[in-house]
Amino acid sequence: MNTKVKAAILSVMLALSSSMAGSAYADAKNPKIGFSIDDLRVERWVRDRDFFSAEAEKLGAKVFVQSADASEQRQISQIENLISRGVDVLVIVPYNATVLNNAIREAKKANIKVVSYDRLILNADIDAYISFDNAKVGEMQAEGLVQLKPKGNYYLLGGAPTDNNAKILREGQMKVLQPLIDKGDIKVVGKQWVKDWSASEAMSIVENALTANNNKIDAIVASNDGTAGGAIQALASQKLSGKVPVSGQDADLAAVKRVMAGTQAMTVYKPLKLIASEAAKLAVQLVRNEKPAYNSQYENGLKKVNTLLLKPVPLTKANVNLLVEEGFYTKAQLSAN
Ligand code: BGC
Repeated sequence: MNTKVKAAILSVMLALSSSMAGSAYADAKNPKIGFSIDDLRVERWVRDRDFFSAEAEKLGAKVFVQSADASEQRQISQIENLISRGVDVLVIVPYNATVLNNAIREAKKANIKVVSYDRLILNADIDAYISFDNAKVGEMQAEGLVQLKPKGNYYLLGGAPTDNNAKILREGQMKVLQPLIDKGDIKVVGKQWVKDWSASEAMSIVENALTANNNKIDAIVASNDGTAGGAIQALASQKLSGKVPVSGQDADLAAVKRVMAGTQAMTVYKPLKLIASEAAKLAVQLVRNEKPAYNSQYENGLKKVNTLLLKPVPLTKANVNLLVEEGFYTKAQLSAN
C-alpha cells in the first residue's frame, strides 16, 4: 500500500472515530449534560443550577448550562446548539411547555435522552419527568389561606399560562376551594394567569382587582413567591398588607422574611438540593442505560412519562426554622434586614 492510500485510510478512520465520540455513542463514564433553563434571572433556578452541577460533576458528568431568559425562540436555539455540541442528555426547564417538540425530535434522532425538569414538556417524546408534587403544592396554598379565612372573597392569581405547573397548581387549589365554594362560604371574585410569573404584572392585576371589588378581597391565592410579592405590594398601597392573607411557594428569601413579618401567610418549601441532585442522578442513569427509580407517571399528550415526584413542605411562621436546620438559609440570612 502506498503512503497516499495509507494516509487516506487513516483520515477516514479518524473521521469515523471522531463522529463516534458524539451522542450516538454516549460516553457513559463522563456523560455530557445540557441543562436548558427557562430563566436564570429568577432566584430559585440559580440554586437549581448550582446544586445540579455539583451533583452531576460528582458523578463524573460535565454540564453545559443555558438560560433562555423567558424566550421560547432562544430556548429552542439553545437546545439545538446543545444537540450540535454532542451532549448525551438534555435536562430542560421549559419556558413554554408546548413548543419544544421539534427540538426534542432532533435530540431523539441524535440518540440524546431528554429529561423534563420541574415543568412538564407537553406532546414530546421525553424520557423522564422530575418535579415536586405540584397538585399538593396547590392544595397547601389553598389550605394555608382557608385556615386563616374560612369564609370570604378569594382572588386566584395563577402562574404563567405557558407553564403546565400553573394548571396543576390551580387544580390542587380548587380541590380544596371547590367544596367551600359549593357551600357558599367562599366566593371567587376574580382570577387571572400571570404572564411569565412576573411580579410587576401580578401587582397591577391585584391593584385592578382591589379597585374592581372596592378593596373587598379577603384572601389571595398567589401561586408562587414572586407573584405573591407583587400582590403584597398592591395590598400595601391600600394599607391592607398583613390583613389579607397571601400564599406563595419556593421559600424565596424575601418571601420567608415576609412570612416572618406577617405580610405573607405562607410559602411552600421545596428542597431544591433534592430535586437537583435527583435530576442529575436520573440524567446520568439514563445515559448509562440504568433504571431510575420512578414513583409516578404523567400523561403529556403524547405518552405516559415516567416521573419522579418529590414532596413539598408547607411553611409558615411556625416552622420557618426548618430552613435553617436544612441549610437552605443561615440564621443570619433570615434575620438580616
Ligand atoms: C416552579 C416554581 C417557580 C415558577 C416561576 C414554576 O414552574 O415550579 O417553583 O416559582 O415556575 O419560575
